[in-house]
Amino acid sequence: MVKKKEEFVEEKEIFLEHIQKAGLRKTAQRDLILEIFLRTEDHLTSEDLYWLVQKQDPSVGHTTVYRTLKLLTEAGLAREVRFGDNKTYYEHHFKHEHHDHMICTECGKVIEFVSAEIEDLQDQMADKFGFRLSHHSLRMWGACAECQQTSSDVHAVPSGAQPRVRVRSSVGN
Ligand SMILES: [Zn+2]
Ligand SMILES: [Zn+2]
Ligand SMILES: [Zn+2]
Repeated sequence: MVKKKEEFVEEKEIFLEHIQKAGLRKTAQRDLILEIFLRTEDHLTSEDLYWLVQKQDPSVGHTTVYRTLKLLTEAGLAREVRFGDNKTYYEHHFKHEHHDHMICTECGKVIEFVSAEIEDLQDQMADKFGFRLSHHSLRMWGACAECQQTSSDVHAVPSGAQPRVRVRSSVGN
């Protein structure tokens, strides 16, 4: 499912407002980086995004991509996520509801899920300890269904973007 360009009007306005507030100029390179980021429904490192941008405009430097991702994060359009491999990944944040992650240590696949029960339990635990919860990030590591089936094969962990699988079910529903 490819989103049409027009659907990013709101995101573009937010970004423009943010860069103006930061005293920066609107540039074609920043616009391209934003466009490619919004079109890619993946967990991306700045390196991953850099290579995607390179395909369209080889003159864009890595630093520009990195700095633009930081701006997108400050503007609330992107969110940083870490999957325990010492890399910083970015995912869409604007209008994307809260979710948690399962990470396949064999192939790098990231499964997104939400469980109302787990969310409730976390709130209950916080209450129990008189802890005022501001946010949380639940990450589960293991082997995905496909990797378990082909566990006899030799796996190479891909260096590219982590494929994103969205699971909307919750246990018991
Ligand atoms: Zn959660
Ligand atoms: Zn896997
Ligand atoms: Zn995610």
